[in-house]
Parts: sequence; structure tokens; C-alpha cells
Amino acid sequence: DTVLALRDPLGIKPLCIGEIDSGFMVASESVAIDTLNGKLIRDVKPGELIVIRNGEMKSYQLARSTRPAHCIFEYIYFARPDSIMDGRLIYDVRVNIGSNLAREHPACADTVTPIPDSGITLAVGYHQRSGISYRECLMKNRYIGRTFIMPDQNMRETAVRLKMNTIRPNIEGHKLILVDDSIVRGTTSRRIVNMVRKAGAKEVHVRIGSPPILAPCYLGIDMASRDELIAAHKTVAGVEAVIEADSLGYVSHEGLVDAVGIPKENLCMGCLTGLYPVQIPGEKCLAEQTRLSEYLDSDS
Ligand code: SF4
Repeated sequence: DTVLALRDPLGIKPLCIGEIDSGFMVASESVAIDTLNGKLIRDVKPGELIVIRNGEMKSYQLARSTRPAHCIFEYIYFARPDSIMDGRLIYDVRVNIGSNLAREHPACADTVTPIPDSGITLAVGYHQRSGISYRECLMKNRYIGRTFIMPDQNMRETAVRLKMNTIRPNIEGHKLILVDDSIVRGTTSRRIVNMVRKAGAKEVHVRIGSPPILAPCYLGIDMASRDELIAAHKTVAGVEAVIEADSLGYVSHEGLVDAVGIPKENLCMGCLTGLYPVQIPGEKCLAEQTRLSEYLDSDS
């Protein structure tokens, strides 16, 4: 007869409370509350326990940390664009990231296009800032399931081609700016760059809404091992060569933090900096708030 909802002490993962009819609900993202016709009340605080019983809600602060460490990738990719997190609409944050990306990495091109779906909102921001026309050039097949369950490599590659198709007339003869959220291994990016070249693109400039992913996530995201992460072993020029793009630009740490609008000391950026907010054997820990600031200052 009781619901207990506890957010982790650093607020790495999101959690929010809503009201519905005469009761309450908790969800990782506010879209779950919206979908059920409820109303978002607020985020659960890091280390806060919510107890819901007999139509009443009580709050207990079980743990206090000196600073939160919200996962920055929720803003870049994980959360849905229609979610509200820490008072920010994820859609707006992603438009800001795309806008900062355009400011930091302009390109001489005639079309801005997203890699669907995660690149869409970032590409809108890039388009708004640069004034370069936005046009969809890749279409996702909604009826194809996950590719990794295919038994061999050949079938997996066929499944990837079935998953995404080019809109040839939008590509032929164009200089494209291809926008995506991140590059993990580089294999998907290279395949897509080649796909649009085959469809007649004159130039392909890849722009990424996160800084290079240098290290794994140990905090709940099954990302990839360090060996598999292309940016852990190659410079930006090296990644550009592997994915066969005419140019490659990642948003900077400062550009990203500015777009999110949360002080950098209150974010986890472990996979982007190699400094984690908790002790992880063999990795560097962000023991003092200032260390991330120092890292980001040296980044510029
Ligand atoms: S390491 Fe990266 S993905 Fe993992 S919680 Fe931190 S920011 Fe998020």
C-alpha cells in the first residue's frame, strides 16, 4: 500500500513527481506524467525519499551531497525532447546545443540535415543559428526492429541499410552539414557519410552535439569499453579520416555546458572528461569541485 521513490544522492539519474486525479505518481521523465494526463509537480531532489501512502505524499532528505552531478548525456541524447528536467525543456536545450555548434564550427554548405532521430533538434538549432536551409535527407524505417539480434555481420549490415534510406533529390549536388548527437565507435557515422555520398552529396561536413566521448560510463549507461571508443584513441582529425567526412566538428565542453544552463560543477561529464563524480577503481575521481573547472578552462 506504499510507494517509495528514492533519487540517487548525486542526482545522476532524473526522477520527478506528478499529480494525477487525486493521487501522485513518480517517473524518470515528465513525459510519462504528461502521457497519462497528470501534472508535473517538481523534480525529486538528489538523495530525497518520497513516500506515497493513502493519497498523501511525504518527503525525507536521506542523503546530502556537497554538489549534484546530473548526467549531461540526459540533455544531449537520453531524455526525450518533450521532457522537462530541472525546469528545462530538453527540446530547448538541444536547440541551444545546435546553435552553439554552429557558432563554434561553421561550414560552407547549402543544407543542414539531421541523422534521425537524435540529431533532429540539434540540426534545428544549427539551422537557426547559421541560416543554412534545413532539409531532411535520411528517412528512418519505423518498421524495422533492433539490428544487433541479427545472427551475422552481413545480415546486420543489410538490416542497417533497411533501417535508414536516403532522400536522393534532397542530397544530389548539395554540400551537406550532417548533424548527430555523438560518435561512439565511428562505424555508423562512416556508413551514413558513405550513404549520402553515394546519393550524390558534393561535400559532407559532420557536426556533433557532444564533445568527443573519451571514457566509458560506469554509472548505469551501457555505452562501450574504452577500447571501442574511437575518440579515446584518435584525434579529431583522425576520427574525421575514419568516418570519411570533409570536415568534423564537436561542440566544446563550454558550448555544451552553456546550452544546458547548469553550472559545470553540478554535472557529471565522466565519459567526456575521464573525471567521475564517484570513486571508480582505476579512474580519476572528481574529488574537488574545482578540478572540473580546471579541466574545462584548459579545454579552451
Ligand atoms: S559518465 Fe557520461 S553517460 Fe555516464 S552518467 Fe556521467 S555523463 Fe552520463
